[in-house]
Amino acid sequence: MPALSIDEAVPVDCVVAGAGVVGLAVARALALAGREVLVLEATGLIGSETSARNSEVIHAGIYYPPGSLKARLCVAGREALYAYCAERRIGHKRCGKLIVAHGDAEIARLDAIRARAQACGVDDLEPLDRAALRDMEPALKAEAALLSPSTGIIDSHGLMLALQGDIEDHGGSVAFNAPILGGSLATDGILLEVGGAEPMTLLAASFVNSAGHGAVALARALEGFDPRHVPPAYLCKGSYYSLPGRAPFARLVYPVPEAAGLGVHLTLDLGGQARFGPDTEWIETIDYNVDPARAERFYEAIRRYWPALPDGVLAPAYAGIRPKITPPGAAAADFRIDSPAEHGVPGLVNLFGIESPGLTASLAIGDLVAEKLRR
Ligand SMILES: Cc1cc2nc3c(=O)[nH]c(=O)nc-3n(C[C@H](O)[C@H](O)[C@H](O)COP(=O)(O)OP(=O)(O)OC[C@H]3O[C@@H](n4cnc5c(N)ncnc54)[C@H](O)[C@@H]3O)c2cc1C
Repeated sequence: MPALSIDEAVPVDCVVAGAGVVGLAVARALALAGREVLVLEATGLIGSETSARNSEVIHAGIYYPPGSLKARLCVAGREALYAYCAERRIGHKRCGKLIVAHGDAEIARLDAIRARAQACGVDDLEPLDRAALRDMEPALKAEAALLSPSTGIIDSHGLMLALQGDIEDHGGSVAFNAPILGGSLATDGILLEVGGAEPMTLLAASFVNSAGHGAVALARALEGFDPRHVPPAYLCKGSYYSLPGRAPFARLVYPVPEAAGLGVHLTLDLGGQARFGPDTEWIETIDYNVDPARAERFYEAIRRYWPALPDGVLAPAYAGIRPKITPPGAAAADFRIDSPAEHGVPGLVNLFGIESPGLTASLAIGDLVAEKLRR
């Protein structure tokens, strides 16, 4: 990258890289706090990467280590999200979720999940025995379950459109086909080289790197930024398969969680359509194709809790990719929201590893970043 000239740079108060749900929520929080905000998005659309490729679940905040950012921001974000959805008439439904167990080992894990949830401030989980479960969801087979009444589903695109509207109503803007190619640290802020049809150099007093899968590469492309503050990046793909016809359950159904994800679960969309997934597949490069052959493994996992699943009905739907910062086999990392307190660079916040529950936590992440950048 050629040296950036500070003389030709256009000064901007806050620049946010990435118009996914988190970048938009951060930009909205900054705009609401009275800051001038410009969101730069590499593609031509809002929410075209991970934010368009997830389960659209409003998580209760059950599984995360107590006190972690994931735990705190999920619980705070969930309530903020329900309130925002009601206020802005964004499609959503507090449909509830069942975590189902088979055998003594899994039933014991339900107790551990409930205890962890309580430590995270989620105290509404309700244990159900086989009879209660049968009354609630007759087609479901399990020996015991936990009901999470505060889990729900959301129209994530509707959410992102509302966030974009708020940004624009408060004087901010979102520029498309405007990839940030790199930058460098300057005395008065962060110089950013923007590519696309109208290349330019910006001088941002505050810069929030919310570039999802691009965040690690973008932080590495900031000249003068200590690479020890940039984690490695890994990709963990999750494929979904849809079920034709009426969904067999009224609530979301999850097995007890597995190592890198939440297990092959059933989620519903707001139209009442059911889909299964995501599974976990560590990959080297971004590839959103869904392999029809992987559905074979789904049948066995699903029939543990829904034996009536007919043969051959699952159709490849879509895939999302978790932006991991720890490798296969390692425990999932917490969200990294690295501000000047962590890396020492005034005005800079890097968001790394914003996997699930990033959608649920988005409004709370926005508030936290705006707070960290408060002048
Ligand atoms: C399979 C799967 C299921 C999930 N399910 C749920 C769920 O049910 N509930 C939940 O709460 N969370 C869920 N999540 C997590 C949630 O989807 C993410 O946390 C969230 O979408 C992340 O949003 P983001 O804005 O950080 O990233 P993205 O949506 O990936 O947005 C990043 C944006 O940055 C842009 N960009 C990249 N590089 C640059 C650059 N150099 N310059 C400018 N722009 C750039 C990209 O084009 C992209 O638009 C799931 C995730 C996955 C993968």
